[in-house]
Amino acid sequence: MVELKNVNVHYSSGVDALQDINLRINDGEFVFIVGGSGAGKSTLVKLLMREITPTTGRVFVNGKNLAKLKGNQVAKFRRSIGMVFQDFRLIQELNVYENVAFVLRIADQSTRFIKQRVPYVLNLVDLAHKARSKPKELSGGEQQRVAIARALANDPGLIIADEPTGNIDPRLSYEIVELLRDINRSAGTTIIMVTHEHDLVKHFGGRIINIDSGSITFDDIIGGSDEDE
Ligand code: ADP
Repeated sequence: MVELKNVNVHYSSGVDALQDINLRINDGEFVFIVGGSGAGKSTLVKLLMREITPTTGRVFVNGKNLAKLKGNQVAKFRRSIGMVFQDFRLIQELNVYENVAFVLRIADQSTRFIKQRVPYVLNLVDLAHKARSKPKELSGGEQQRVAIARALANDPGLIIADEPTGNIDPRLSYEIVELLRDINRSAGTTIIMVTHEHDLVKHFGGRIINIDSGSITFDDIIGGSDEDE
């Protein structure tokens, strides 16, 4: 569970990036966080990744107050969540298989486990056939699927996807969100997807949290236009 209680973030520049945010996201939810440029979305993601701590208020992930994490607990916490970024952040020198294996090695997984797990997650994102390709040999959509496989590698309870469709062909954006929704439905992984793409959000529907000038201005469930399932 993700919970923010009376959270304020004040940057030293004088900007109040988030003001009195109260928010609870339960396990297994799929949530879109939307808002224009400068609304406070990145600040919220940074709080959830424990890159920053709130000026006042508290942020809890799975019952842990993130401000209380110390030293290597922060790194361990970050490894426990799956992150997907707009710019993919793949290691260019490594092939697809190695990019996914890398995060498992950092998490001290055994070679035996890695040999099973990497093909399994690549299969989930339908990229088993590209295991030996380097990122630059892939389309944007494929690179993002590798990033999703990497996020899934350590079997996280929570995935945070920060503008995951920002750098890919709009047509393929829908596939990326479908993939995240499939993961949410089949594995019960909580997914928080930050986006400024209103068309995508309207298409899929679900719980939408809108942030405007640092405040939550809307938090409700809307029907999508793909309600054929
Ligand atoms: P979004 O991701 O929705 O575009 P941000 O969270 O990046 O919004 O920014 C929210 C506000 O905080 C903006 O006014 C931005 O200029 C400001 N801001 C963001 N990061 C910093 C920072 N490191 N120092 C000072 N101000 C910042």
